[in-house]
Amino acid sequence: MYKDYQEHLVQVLSEIREAGLYKNERVITSPQGAEITLDTGQKVLNFCANNYLGLSANRKLVKAAKEALETHGYGMSSVRFICGTGDLHKELEQKLAEFFGMEDTILYAACFDANGGVFEPLLTEEDAIISDSLNHASIIDGVRLCKAQRYRYANADMNDLEKKLKEAQAQRFRLIVTDGVFSMDGNVAPLDRIHELAGKYNAMIMVDESHSAGVVGETGRGVTELYNLKGKIEIITGTLGKAFGGAIGGFTTGKKEIIEMLRQRSRPYLFSNSIPPLVAAAGIKMIEMMTETNELQDKLHFNTKYFMEKMMKAGFDIKPTQSAICAVMLYDAKLSQEMASLLLDEGIYVIGFYFPVVPKGQARIRVQLSAAHEQEHLDKAIAAFEKIGRELKVIK
Ligand SMILES: *Cc1c(COP(=O)(O)O)cnc(C)c1O
Repeated sequence: MYKDYQEHLVQVLSEIREAGLYKNERVITSPQGAEITLDTGQKVLNFCANNYLGLSANRKLVKAAKEALETHGYGMSSVRFICGTGDLHKELEQKLAEFFGMEDTILYAACFDANGGVFEPLLTEEDAIISDSLNHASIIDGVRLCKAQRYRYANADMNDLEKKLKEAQAQRFRLIVTDGVFSMDGNVAPLDRIHELAGKYNAMIMVDESHSAGVVGETGRGVTELYNLKGKIEIITGTLGKAFGGAIGGFTTGKKEIIEMLRQRSRPYLFSNSIPPLVAAAGIKMIEMMTETNELQDKLHFNTKYFMEKMMKAGFDIKPTQSAICAVMLYDAKLSQEMASLLLDEGIYVIGFYFPVVPKGQARIRVQLSAAHEQEHLDKAIAAFEKIGRELKVIK
């Protein structure tokens, strides 16, 4: 049997390669940071990690994790409801709820699981989920697992959302679902207007803050802070795998009855292992650090503004952003790959994205800023973009 199947896989894989869609993985031998070492020995400046606050190799987090390793051991060997709940898990849940101004939190192994397990326990075929067309794959999968009626509105299009909300009046309960920051453009969901429409059409709101937590809002509390809506929406999901230290772990935070129901019925929570105590300990430390000082958030905001302004001044076509994601528009797929490759030769690690990750004819290089970047790093990246941009006639 396997021989036939093997031939089939080899065939499909070669089609993926021929279509230019084959994903190669670059191997890093250093800790994640502003400057990383590749297995080729090349040292490059990293502008493609979700390491927004530069915490991936932060000494205080490493110390907190090491201490927990000694006091709490390595793994939990259990799901939460059998014997996988530690004091550190409970403390992190409470700290995350406070951070976002919510009532309670439930941890998952990843935000992919948080999104995969949030809809099915809460809504039935009598209800409606109204989802942004650019929502993350894990939201799409989670919605698929739920029997609620599905509505999809065009990205951040409030007229379309209103239309879908009118249609969804036929259902019992309505939940609007959106990413906080959309990862390819860096735009923020218009939560103020979503909140108004939710009030008008009697709907609840869920925001996935994976790319916005730690980043958006003056103190990094995400899009609910940006729009002064802290505590005013029902559900937030997020990850510990991006700005929040970058290790592993996800969460859903929200109204206490919602979280209580998820603890009873959410399948990725009930049937999957607890996060390691050392990850919970580092998460607690991370929130303490962000409560004591706004230094990292301020630096990230400064770096983003600095980079954007210099790049626009240099003549690049930059999508307006409200996050730490800066899309340098090139439109041409081949050009995006060539430019990323030449930038790597200059020691700048960025990724070019093209169809089907972004719409046809919308190829771009996505730059992700970090509080780990020093001004010299930004200046070096901007200079490299200008040099290669001129060579490739992207700018004059
Ligand atoms: C990265 C991301 C996730 C997945 O988070 P993990 O914790 O890595 O599983 C979910 N939603 C959004 C919007 C993301 O950007």
